[in-house]
Amino acid sequence: MKKNSLRFLQTHTNMTNVIDELAPDLFGNGYQDNGDRLLYNLFVEAVEQAPIAISITDKKAKILYVNEEFSRVTGYQPVDILGENESILSDKRTPREVYYDLWRTISSKKIWRGTLCNRHKSGERYLSDLTIAPMLNESGVITHYIGMHRDITKPYESEKRVVNQKLLIESVINSSPIAMVVLDDQDKVILDNHNYKALVSDLDKGEPATYFLRLLREEMGDLWSQLQSKEQGFNNREFKVESKGSQRIRWFSCAGNWFIENEVNADAFFENASKQYLILTLTDITRQRRQMEELHIQTLKTIMAEDERVRGIRETLLGAMHQIQMPMNQIRAAEQILRHKQDDQHAGLLQILQQIQQSGDETVATMQKCIPEILQTAVIPVNLNQILHEVLLLNNQRIWSHGIEVHWQPLQQLPTLLGSENRLRILFKQLIDNAIDSICESNDEEQRLKITTHTDADLIYVCIEDSGPGIPVEKRAKVFEPFYTTRPMGGNQAGMGLVMAKEIVNQHHGFIEIDPDCDRGCRFKISFPVHRQPLKGVE
Ligand code: FAD
Repeated sequence: MKKNSLRFLQTHTNMTNVIDELAPDLFGNGYQDNGDRLLYNLFVEAVEQAPIAISITDKKAKILYVNEEFSRVTGYQPVDILGENESILSDKRTPREVYYDLWRTISSKKIWRGTLCNRHKSGERYLSDLTIAPMLNESGVITHYIGMHRDITKPYESEKRVVNQKLLIESVINSSPIAMVVLDDQDKVILDNHNYKALVSDLDKGEPATYFLRLLREEMGDLWSQLQSKEQGFNNREFKVESKGSQRIRWFSCAGNWFIENEVNADAFFENASKQYLILTLTDITRQRRQMEELHIQTLKTIMAEDERVRGIRETLLGAMHQIQMPMNQIRAAEQILRHKQDDQHAGLLQILQQIQQSGDETVATMQKCIPEILQTAVIPVNLNQILHEVLLLNNQRIWSHGIEVHWQPLQQLPTLLGSENRLRILFKQLIDNAIDSICESNDEEQRLKITTHTDADLIYVCIEDSGPGIPVEKRAKVFEPFYTTRPMGGNQAGMGLVMAKEIVNQHHGFIEIDPDCDRGCRFKISFPVHRQPLKGVE
């Protein structure tokens, strides 16, 4: 049988009145009756065996009673500690303010709860989660204090370890040059790093994760849910983002990985429940993209320069052939007249004319052979926005140096057309070059180049509009004829640019015209069918 606590106290402490003093407060004055006595004994046993360290002290914290758990937690047996002050447990690491607060609270008849650093009998420190309640007599005067405490060193250590791990994870992800965010299954941000936080203000798109998740879901379609259900990650999903900051256009490469974590709330205590999270990383690849774009533009410049050189030779030779053709036609006419006359008088002249004609034909044939071929290029789905953007970049220097205001209004999600990227680039380079030339010619204050793309069910439209002097109505049909130019001939002005432009448009089954409704400057309207059949004869 367990020790009779009452007797124990009475025997070992000489504080015979402790329990008797407390008992009336707890059980009323008639507690010595049989029924109440039973309850009283039960109470004493309950306190004695309670799984929490209990001590009862006088008003000065002198210990009058301790239960078994107290001895287990502190290492002090009753014989060691009864009559001592509770301060025997103090490690002196607990700041004095805590004790002041403790005493201020309990002396004013309130319950104090807090954590103290205690010292075990062996000298080992432990953390005590302590509650002290004052006990009042019938007149409301404090007679005793009851203290209840638990050793919380281990839970505290685990809790601290979790906090430390969290801090470690946070410092690792914060030192990453990549923006990282952890999202729950409701797309709510659970954890993020400094770089991610910087995106919130830099991008001006609200919650960046929400913005990128929308782009990712749109781009990946069903693949998103497939990967999510199998917890398979994704990477290298690149997106262009227009922001309001100093860097207007930025590129991000997105990667994601799903993981499952067990729920820790009370609901999941008996039924194991888990939640899926997504780690999303956003890498700013704007610099790499710019470098790639610059490289691409350099390559295009080289290709275009070579193409221009070939075109120059072709146009010169075609021009020369065209020039030779006129006197040749006259000679052919004279030769035919003489041949019909059939008189001997002009036989010599006829022979000379035939020789000239033959040598002229040979010269033209030789020139024809010398016309360089334009290289065949692959026919692929082409995004005209991309082509026009590249051509604008190719002309960047000229546009900038002439202070031309560019209104570039591409339709997002423009359908593709099947065609030759290179040929279409030449086409738009020609039209934009012409537009810039016209703008530079004009004395108008307004220097404006407007390029728009749009579409309807069947056609893709491109409009290139300049604020130059325009083309008079009577000349509008002629500009598409060979060797016709509104500018002085020479250099690049061979009058073949729009001929070639029209040829390229035709090869792509398109249509080009000068907008008759344009009353200021000049507006070229080009349309292409949205068909996706391979084109024949595209060079
Ligand atoms: P102390 O001189 O004992 O006290 C520090 C300050 O507390 C004093 O300057 C004074 O302002 C105030 N103070 C002390 N005694 C009283 C008093 N009777 N009335 C008003 N103010 C007073 N301490 C622990 O370290 N660990 C425990 O587990 C613990 N359990 C306790 C349980 C009970 C039921 C009670 C009543 C107190 C307990 N104490 C405990 C507090 C303890 O009594 C000491 O106050 C404390 O340990 C500081 O001891 P000290 O010798 O450093 O300073």
